[in-house]
This record gives sequence, structure tokens and C-alpha cells, in this order.
Amino acid sequence: MTANTTNAQEQQAALEFSREMLQFIEGSPTPFHAVANASGLLQSAGYSVPAPDEDLAEGGRYLFSHNDSSLVAVSLNAPLEQGFSLVGAHTDSPCLKIKPNAAYLKDSCLQLGVEVYGGALLSPWFDRDLSIAGRLTLTGRSGKLSNRLIDFLRPVGVIPSLAIHLNREANDGNPINRQNHLPPLLDITEAEVDFQTLLLEQVKQQYPQETYDSVLAFELALYDTQPPAIVGLRQNLLASARLDNLLSSYTGLRALLQQHQRGNCVLVLSDHEEIGSATASGAAGPFLESVLRRLCGDEARYRRAIDRSMLVSADNAHALHPNYADRHEPKHKPLLNAGPVIKINHNQRYATNSETQAVFAQICAQEGVPCQSFVVRSDMGCGSTIGPITATELGIRTVDVGAPQLAMHSIRETAGVLDSHYLLRALTAFYNRVERGVDRVS
Ligand code: ZN
Repeated sequence: MTANTTNAQEQQAALEFSREMLQFIEGSPTPFHAVANASGLLQSAGYSVPAPDEDLAEGGRYLFSHNDSSLVAVSLNAPLEQGFSLVGAHTDSPCLKIKPNAAYLKDSCLQLGVEVYGGALLSPWFDRDLSIAGRLTLTGRSGKLSNRLIDFLRPVGVIPSLAIHLNREANDGNPINRQNHLPPLLDITEAEVDFQTLLLEQVKQQYPQETYDSVLAFELALYDTQPPAIVGLRQNLLASARLDNLLSSYTGLRALLQQHQRGNCVLVLSDHEEIGSATASGAAGPFLESVLRRLCGDEARYRRAIDRSMLVSADNAHALHPNYADRHEPKHKPLLNAGPVIKINHNQRYATNSETQAVFAQICAQEGVPCQSFVVRSDMGCGSTIGPITATELGIRTVDVGAPQLAMHSIRETAGVLDSHYLLRALTAFYNRVERGVDRVS
């Protein structure tokens, strides 16, 4: 087989995987939808939600979730003392969330109050065809509370830019007031609109067999209805919302589903990374630890397992932007389509150490997957992710990696078609590696 044939095959496999991943991302406008979709795939592969008092046996495949927005899936294939191979990613992305008393009429314009979630890049939210999705808590005649996910699917609003004629400085740095400039426009009307009624109508449409009287509470977000796309002259780029970090979430999920069941494989998808992870369903909360403790049973076994475990924390990295190349450290300029990036920061904004870096780099080398490294410029602040938080909470050795991408935290981000497939191959090999206990470097 020639190098060209191999490249063509890799390209084709990566394109197919990217399409599949983009379909998952499109169908997952909120962390609730991402967890529901991931759970569905895991359940059809034989993963089950154990009863609270069920004994969890070797050979089992289990699924746990927290607040419907974080998930832990485990495939137990070896004595627990051998430790766990964990892959972590996050389900949330910066966005605009809808305020509780949302709808208001102003100058005959129906609008919704919104709150910025996480470190969103705000200007790309203007002039988009926006829809609404999320979770409602409803009640019916019996008074019983029920959660239901909704997704309007169609564009229901837009945040129009101000015409340049009314703001001549618009291209010279344009401050966005989060309270005044972001509420979307939903309608031109004189009639007061009850947002509750709108939501109940949507529930009726999605759940025609069910009857509810009122929406008691909701967690709803706006999202862009433009479908993801494969772009680029040679179809080697992809554009989508929420690549950070549903790209890693889906890739980790697929790696778990296709591993060869040699060791104890764990996938953890956490909510609330974009707001610091310090929540009950975030990486700093007790969710993952409580699952691992339940699996291990007693403290001594838990400690032995943790000591022999390793986490690959997968969260996208900043690729070199050709128009802003000076924002990168000159010797660390990750490129799109050049493989997963190992993230290093000696101030521990990333949890990678030389040992875990070497383990991941070796896995990539053995798989024929290229990999790159990233450090931030010394005169710029460094982002962080779930890696250092999980490492601090559990004491698990960790490497922070991620597919390179552009426009992180935009409503539409750009990544390379090859990179998620490279990451898939590396994560699958990490789950399959034989010498766990980890890769103890002597
Ligand atoms: Zn992220």
C-alpha cells in the first residue's frame, strides 16, 4: 500500500467520522441533549443504569448521570485493583441562557432576557437564526413533577446588529453591553405573550401523549440553527457550534464503545466546565469520585485503583490562527489536521506532567498518530480545563490533550477533519493498552 493510499484511506475514515460526530453535535444543542444522546448510544451498546443497591460486577457496563447534564460510563473488564483508564471531556459550551421572567414587550418588539453563560465570544451571536432548547420541569393534574427536554428546532429569534450608519465606529472595537444589546427579537406585535404558554405548546408538540398544566422552572439556551458543515477546498475543515467540547465528548464516547474490553475503561462527561466546574455536576463536584468509590467498594481497593489509574482529559486546544500568528508561543504553534495537542503549563493550569505526557506521546507514536504540544506565551494568561480539577480532587495522574481548533467559544467554531479521528485512534489505543498500572515509568 502506498503512502498516498494510506492517506486517502485516513482522509476518508476521518470524513466519515466527522460527519457522524457533527450529526451528534447538531442533535445536542444543550448539555441535557448531549447526555441524553450519549446515554441512548451507550444503552444500545449494552450499558445499563444500575439500581442503587445493585452489586456492580466485573464484566459489567454501567451508566450513571447527574442532573441529566453529566455522565459517567464504565466498562469493567479486569480486577478493579488494576485501576481505571479514564477519558474526560465536558458537555457545556458558552452560550446565552434565558432568564426566568424572560419575555417582554418593548416598542412593539417581543424580546427575551438572556444571561451570558461562560466566556462566550459575543459578536458572532448577532445576525444568526436562533432557536431555543433545554430542560423544563413541569407539573400536571396529579402534582407530580416531570423533566422534559425541548428543542424548538426552527429559528425563533435573531439578535440583529446595529446598522453601521447608526454606529460608525462599529469596526473599531465595538463594546457589547450584555444587558442591553443581547436580547433577541422574537416578534413584532402589540400583544403581550406568555412565555409559559409558548413552552407548553412546544411540549405538546414534542410529547403529544402527555398532559401538563404548567412549567414550574426551566434551563433553556439559545443556539444557532445553521447546521454544521464540512468546509475547505479539499473538505478538510469543519465548522460547527459547540466543537468545544462536544468534539471530545463524542470522540471519547466512540473510543469507549469500540475499545477491546481489556481493562477498566471510564468515560466522564462533565457539565459546568465553562464556569469553573465547582458545582455538583461539575468536575470539582463529588460525582466521579462517588461512582469510582461505589465500584471499588472498600477504601483500600479504591486507593489501590486510584494509584494505578490515569486520566486523559480531552478539551480542544488553540490552533494557530494565520491572521494572528503572534498570539502563539513561537515554538508551539499547533496546526489544524496535525494531530492531538498535549497541553503543558508549569503553573498547573494543565495537569500534564512529563510522565503522563510521555505516555500519551508514546501511545500516539505506536498508533502512527501525529501529536503536537502547546504552551501559552509567557506574557499571556493560560486557560484551564477539567484535567487539573479532576487530578486535584482524586489524585489521578492526568494528561491534558485536545484537538486543535480555531474560534474557540464562538457560536461557530472551526476544526480539522483529521484531528477528531486522530484523537479517536489515540483514545481507543489508550483504553486498549495492555500495561496499565500505568505505564509506571521507572
Ligand atoms: Zn473546553
